[in-house]
Amino acid sequence: MSNPKELQDLQAEAEALGRQLSTLEDTELDKLAASEERAAALQTAIAELEAVTAQRGAESQSLGKEADRAEEEIARLEADRELALKGVEAEPLALYTQLRGTKAGLAVAKVAGGSCGACGAELSAALARRQPLRPAD
Ligand SMILES: [Zn+2]
Repeated sequence: MSNPKELQDLQAEAEALGRQLSTLEDTELDKLAASEERAAALQTAIAELEAVTAQRGAESQSLGKEADRAEEEIARLEADRELALKGVEAEPLALYTQLRGTKAGLAVAKVAGGSCGACGAELSAALARRQPLRPAD
């Protein structure tokens, strides 16, 4: 290493290697930062998915309970209906059954404030006075 030119070359080579190493380190750090960002984004997505899944589960459970209650209510109403039909005479029952078949399942409606409780149509004064409401002959 007595030759100054040789020493100079070695120093230049050492500097070049140093720059190369620095560039490599920067590239690796960039890759690391990018992968950490991706990992963080994935964690957020997983947390959101878990929250949505939990919410769906709760909603599904709540809807199931509501459906059970509705089915119980239907059974109760059908029992009430059977009971109510026992007190109805054959002729009005036949008319009721016939109307129910032609009026979209609704044969009778309450009158409230001079209007039809089903469709809201206003009753004529003459019709509103009729007690009880019977079909025209
Ligand atoms: Zn009506």
